[in-house]
Amino acid sequence: PLRDGSMFPTLLNIVNRQSIANYGTTSRNFPLDIERLAHEHRLQSMLLIPFVVRESEKGIVLIADTNRRHSFNSREVSLAQGLVLQAANAIKNAQLFQDLQHNIEKLKLTQAKLVQTARLSAIGELAAAVAHQINNPLTTILGDTALMLTDLAPDDINRESLLAVERAGKRAHEVVRRLLSMARQKSSEVPPELMDVNVTIYNTLALVEGTLFRARVHLELDLSRELPLAYGVSGELEDVWLNLLLNARDAVKQHKQPIVGIRSLYNTEEKTVNVQIWDNGPGLGDIDPEQLFDAFYTTKPPGEGTGLGLYICQSIIKRCGGKIETGVSPEGGALFTVFLPCDE
Ligand code: ADP
Repeated sequence: PLRDGSMFPTLLNIVNRQSIANYGTTSRNFPLDIERLAHEHRLQSMLLIPFVVRESEKGIVLIADTNRRHSFNSREVSLAQGLVLQAANAIKNAQLFQDLQHNIEKLKLTQAKLVQTARLSAIGELAAAVAHQINNPLTTILGDTALMLTDLAPDDINRESLLAVERAGKRAHEVVRRLLSMARQKSSEVPPELMDVNVTIYNTLALVEGTLFRARVHLELDLSRELPLAYGVSGELEDVWLNLLLNARDAVKQHKQPIVGIRSLYNTEEKTVNVQIWDNGPGLGDIDPEQLFDAFYTTKPPGEGTGLGLYICQSIIKRCGGKIETGVSPEGGALFTVFLPCDE
């Protein structure tokens, strides 16, 4: 049974010194704590053998005779010692086996995630290739529309339709351009440079507006007009806003009146440019903030989440010399605040 060691100093001593104790001869008095133990369990003779599974797991095997007082002889002692050693080894082996099984499970999981990452990067490349392919026909559509418009009489009945084609084409062209700029080879050696953070936010909004609109999400935009330039890597800050906005959109899915907000401001205390992305979803709840930014941490069903979004956000922001913090939005949902060093 588990015992409070402080009540049994002799036992503690045996464990610490790793020595065997043999209590039984009538001539010698037992130490007080051993006497108490003997009395509690009606033990006459005791053989106490320390055993160690690992440095942090030590114990004592107590072999007792309840009939008579005698000293265990040397043959009995070495037999008991041998048995205890074997038992300790068996426990150690069982633990190692358990560790091994646990590690194999972890390895399998990591392998599955690696495959998923490879697939994602392949999809990213495919998206860039598709964007390239779409660019060529778009150039033809825009060029020919412009030509036809110049040839058309101002009051021609087809003029409005052609203008609509031109607008839609330009919009598609813009989306493709931004997709390509995001898919551009990103090198971790590119040093952060000063940039207008609001422009990077607008670049991202052009990409996500459509998906927010389709999800009936009301977007609240509150960008400061007096923002100093901040340090970022072009194309990568857009990735951060994109990930945070898409997470916010996913979080408000079940809400009757879903709201997602993005705000930029100058933080006078920290002297940083802050970007806050918030929503009125269920919030981050009990999720450990450390775990949240771990690669592959996701609570989304398989196939929907990769758990890479926040990890990527954090690594980009760190590279820019900034930080990201989580909190609760006034509406009770999640709030992510990005701090970027800026041009004071
Ligand atoms: P993924 O979105 O693929 O799951 P992320 O790293 O972007 O990966 O996010 C990790 C997890 O953080 C999500 O699965 C979700 O549980 C939580 N999370 C992120 N953003 C929000 C948010 N706005 N509201 C609630 N939970 C969030």
